[in-house]
Amino acid sequence: MDMQPYALVIHGGAGTILKSDMTPELEQLYMEGLQSALDAGYAVLEQGGTAVNAVKAAIVVLEDNLLFNAGRGSVFTKKGVQEMDAALMDGATLNAGAIAAVRNVRNPIELAAEVMHNSNHVFLSGKGTNDFAIKQGIKLEPDDYFFSQFRYDQWKEIRDSDNYSLDHTHQNIQELMKDKKFGTVGACACDQQGNIAAGTSTGGMTNKKFGRIGDSPVIGSGTYANNQTCAISCTGHGEPFIRAVAAHDVSCLMEYKNLSLQQAMDEVVNHKLVALEGEGGMIGIDAKANVSMVFNSAGMYRAMRNSKGEQIIGIYKD
Ligand code: ASP
Repeated sequence: MDMQPYALVIHGGAGTILKSDMTPELEQLYMEGLQSALDAGYAVLEQGGTAVNAVKAAIVVLEDNLLFNAGRGSVFTKKGVQEMDAALMDGATLNAGAIAAVRNVRNPIELAAEVMHNSNHVFLSGKGTNDFAIKQGIKLEPDDYFFSQFRYDQWKEIRDSDNYSLDHTHQNIQELMKDKKFGTVGACACDQQGNIAAGTSTGGMTNKKFGRIGDSPVIGSGTYANNQTCAISCTGHGEPFIRAVAAHDVSCLMEYKNLSLQQAMDEVVNHKLVALEGEGGMIGIDAKANVSMVFNSAGMYRAMRNSKGEQIIGIYKD
């Protein structure tokens, strides 16, 4: 009998990522960051682990990397702190866990997993989330741990304005963000059992206020997984992704219109989101371990590896 194929796909954010803004050294660091996350997640799949655990393992590595806007290295809010959002979904059971606006949690994806596995809830927000984290023994870190000079400088440029900026910015903000970094992170996996899962983790956007929450932790918008269709993790301008219910829409196009993963993602990213000025992209996988990475922005940090021995790591449109 043929072995069930398995695969992992990850992203580190999408946006106005241009080769002209990048130094070879920085490019190398991003590639290495993606590679080590890919290796960590893929090792779980290779050893027969679950898609959920592979997604978690890959995301933890990206959260720990200062270059990406998730966990350590998250962007600053209007008040000058980091508030993080994350979600995890298991396509085999449709179980999900999500957290929003959480502070001082070292690995928000682990807290989302805790919500999924060990609470009666799907989505926790604000201070109560931290209480839950403490109760579950989740690792916390002081504010300093999350600090990065370049995110701080990004924030300083706009903190006195009403502007807020995504890592992938446009219009006037773009000028302010010459040195912009990108980096919400996500992963989707298909394991040796043919189960799929998706996860996303982010610091959201620089100078966000009023407890703003993006698409990343919203099940169906930034994160979704269903064995019957696909597992999706999005990155981009969160508001249009929420309004488009982007991740679930891909699933619907596959379920009700019989589109392939690639066709469905192309429809949502290059048509529906474009119509809403929703800049960004998504990664996806199905239960046959087909992988797609689609974005309508200049670039998306992305990588995939599968049991056929294929591996891709990319940043720009090429
Ligand atoms: N989608 C995220 C948000 O809106 C940001 C990103 O993907 O970079 O919070």
